[in-house]
Amino acid sequence: MSSPASSPLSASALPLRHLPSVDTVLKEEAGRAALDRHGRQATTAAVRYALDERRAALRAGAGGPATPLEIAAAALARLDAAATPSLKPVFNLTGTVLHTNLGRAIFAEDAVAAATRAMRSAVALEYDLDGGKRGERDDHVRDLICELTGAEDATLVNNNAAAVLLVLNTLSQGKPAVVSRGELIEIGGAFRMPEIMRRAGAELDEVGTTNRTHARDYREAIRPETGVILKVHTSNYRIEGFTKEVPPRELAEIAHAAHVPLVNDLGSGTLADLSRYGLVHEPTVREAVAEGADLVTFSGDKLLGGPQAGFIVGRRDLVAKVNKNPMKRALRVDKVRLAAIEATLRLYRDPDRLADRLPTLRFLTRRPDDMAAQAARLAPVLQRVFGPAFVVGPTPCRSQIGSGALPLETLSGIGLAIRARDGSGGAVARLADALRRLPVPVIGRIDDQALVLDLRCLDDEAAFLASVTTLEGAHELA
Ligand SMILES: *Cc1c(COP(=O)(O)O)cnc(C)c1O
Repeated sequence: MSSPASSPLSASALPLRHLPSVDTVLKEEAGRAALDRHGRQATTAAVRYALDERRAALRAGAGGPATPLEIAAAALARLDAAATPSLKPVFNLTGTVLHTNLGRAIFAEDAVAAATRAMRSAVALEYDLDGGKRGERDDHVRDLICELTGAEDATLVNNNAAAVLLVLNTLSQGKPAVVSRGELIEIGGAFRMPEIMRRAGAELDEVGTTNRTHARDYREAIRPETGVILKVHTSNYRIEGFTKEVPPRELAEIAHAAHVPLVNDLGSGTLADLSRYGLVHEPTVREAVAEGADLVTFSGDKLLGGPQAGFIVGRRDLVAKVNKNPMKRALRVDKVRLAAIEATLRLYRDPDRLADRLPTLRFLTRRPDDMAAQAARLAPVLQRVFGPAFVVGPTPCRSQIGSGALPLETLSGIGLAIRARDGSGGAVARLADALRRLPVPVIGRIDDQALVLDLRCLDDEAAFLASVTTLEGAHELA
């Protein structure tokens, strides 16, 4: 065996021995900070990891011995990075108000407060405080939903996909469910109506064609064993040209003449008449109920502007059936969301102040001159922060509602367009990347070599500036 002096490892043997011990590292200020913030188990593991990394580097002939301070700092940085939440708040400047990938609706302050109270405390979720007996969780919102929709009864589930699944399973398991071919939609995120119907146990009974379905198509399809007639709001797409659909009221008459329930899946569904706020009219839940649908299903976090939830409203006997379905238990909402839903629904009692209180409606109704003033305030600041390689200026924007609501309607507003002075798309892509890595990431959209920040949903201008100005002097952007 050769002597250590001639071994190829001997060159690194000396620095390896000089790596500090875990205890020494933990005595450094950064080590103590790590212990304080992250606890002993995680901190010692991170210190060992940092030591292993350094040992491997030394063996590879890279770098010199590490001081305890360096190891402690590396461990602390690693622990801090791992402790930042993965589900980060972001600025949604995409121009899509209800962005499914960004969590759809932002809660009203009242809903946030109600949800927080419910998180902190025991609540009378299924407890009747008058009689001291068991109550039902729907009791907290039933009257409110009925008041706002004109329905006889109502219940809530996890989301509208669950509402559709549960309703079909309840009314049409093992039975034909009649639906127009023009309404067999895919919403995205793997929600395809034909598949949901099959999974609900319903037998798909398609009628009509993609573009035209007539009253006689429904009439001829109905059989004694038919479980349900389903009408689906086509949400994210529209067929134009040579088209025909049966109006809901006529469809209700057909269904009722045959003693088959009509279910109208409104998708977004809204509780307010949007035309009152200068927006395009979208069928309200109240209208769908009045037009004779026996059950109506809709989402909580689309135009309604609340938490994720699915509403099932309509005939009392049918809601009772839905509630008896054992699947209901698997799809119910928890106390936190129930509290937020109740608080959100209450806001609808005062339509005059709804647009101030409900962020979704506030964003949808934002005035272009308000956005223009904001653009004028922000443009010089962003110009300074991004530097002379970029040109920042106001730009007209067409925002979308999102989540399949009124897909062809856009809202005109103002945003900021940021272009590279030399026209390079690479610089714009790097800027978009840097904005996504901010402490509070800013999400815009790339449009024709420009990064467009649609200001429609920018509420907290101060927080936005605080986040963006951390990029000041970041010359690598260009
Ligand atoms: C969005 C939508 C759904 C699904 O609702 P979620 O609340 O996202 O589960 C179902 N049906 C229609 C018509 C929709 O637009």
